[in-house]
Amino acid sequence: MLTAIVGINWGDEGKGRMVDLLSQQYDVVVRYQGGNNAGHTVVNDRGRFILNLLPSGILRDETVNVMGVGMVIDVEHLYNEAQRLRDGGITIDPDHLKISDKATICMPYHKLLDILEEERLADKKFGSTRRGIAPVYADKFYKKTIRMGDLLTPEVLEEKLEGIVEWKNLTIANGYGHEPIKAKDMLDWLMKYGMAFKDYVCDTTEFLGNAAREGKNIMFEAQLGALRDIDYGIFPYTSSSSNISAYAPIGAGVPGLKVDKTIGIIKAYSSCVGEGPFTCELFGEDGDKLREAGNEYGAATGRPRRVGGFDVIASKYGVETQGATSLALTKLDVLSYLDKIPVCVGYEYNGESLPRFPMGRALKEATPVYEYFDGWNCDISSCRRFEDLPENAQKYVKYIENAVGCPVEYVSVGAERDAYIKMF
Ligand code: GDP
Ligand code: MG
Repeated sequence: MLTAIVGINWGDEGKGRMVDLLSQQYDVVVRYQGGNNAGHTVVNDRGRFILNLLPSGILRDETVNVMGVGMVIDVEHLYNEAQRLRDGGITIDPDHLKISDKATICMPYHKLLDILEEERLADKKFGSTRRGIAPVYADKFYKKTIRMGDLLTPEVLEEKLEGIVEWKNLTIANGYGHEPIKAKDMLDWLMKYGMAFKDYVCDTTEFLGNAAREGKNIMFEAQLGALRDIDYGIFPYTSSSSNISAYAPIGAGVPGLKVDKTIGIIKAYSSCVGEGPFTCELFGEDGDKLREAGNEYGAATGRPRRVGGFDVIASKYGVETQGATSLALTKLDVLSYLDKIPVCVGYEYNGESLPRFPMGRALKEATPVYEYFDGWNCDISSCRRFEDLPENAQKYVKYIENAVGCPVEYVSVGAERDAYIKMF
């Protein structure tokens, strides 16, 4: 069984929390795209963990975790993240973690280029996480990157690095006027942080192919959400990778296989990090209260997130592009403080209502149509069956299910592992 767990909205839907919960049914958890711009928060009996690079199954000893072909890996960040988890009592060794030899290394100069470019753009900036993600993916398609597998042949690595550094300095020194980078420094960095994972590097295509043939349950864990997908998201306010479930087998390392089930993680309201159109955005006191109630501050960056009501138009588009077969509705408990729950039920543009999620100018200028649903005004965090939820909360769940046209399989009512309702 191959299952993808993906984001329906702008990211931060609670994917880490759901993967941690569901991974007990899976033998293998694979991250298939992105880098340490992800921030997944998992709260369980061992503590509260923030994962940027490691798959969320790493918190379970029985699960094998794979960092797939489609990932970009800052090995210094990985080194520190692994150390933090080990300090928290988590086992990280080559039996529990396998890193694709084809995964790309995100180098210190990618981070530097990200910062130099955001500074050049100044007030026109995109709101990058400044972790080098766009520069490293650009270099990957330029075919001028170091891959994890290169760590296994240090002689070749050194030669490759010389050529790349010379090429990079054309931009860093000659273009941005920054001090040139040195091949020696880059090699030292790779020897220190990259080599620490030498024994974890393997042909994950072979590993996953065997696991699938043996009938193992494999989960593909996405970072970010449909609206941040490089192709289908709100371009250019997207990430630089494909997070949609159709890409999962490719980015994981089993391009010949198909996903059997796609669980879309969808939040009971909206949040968005960074710049770009966010039609359902709530401002002033309404926004502040929701941000506080949902603790909407970036897990990777600490930045306050923009917030809004549940967005029917955007979520429907997310469900469609992800090909979701069922949904996990998260953070329903956050809305318990509201007397009236704001829901963005439509978009208007040029005086007309838009039937589909728009792009380009229409999206930039669209205005939200808000409707208000009766709240429930009580704590629902201990509800474990649908019938336990107050009637208005039940109505809200059913409304979302109908509005986006996909069955809700899980309702999450708290960050803790067991704070959820299974619907069927
Ligand atoms: P991800 O990037 O999709 O994994 O999500 P983040 O970890 O960035 O953000 C989700 C946040 O909400 C985390 O702090 C979770 O611990 C928390 N969370 C997840 N599900 C729930 C829920 O149902 N209720 C509450 N109150 N918090 C939740
Ligand atoms: Mg996040």
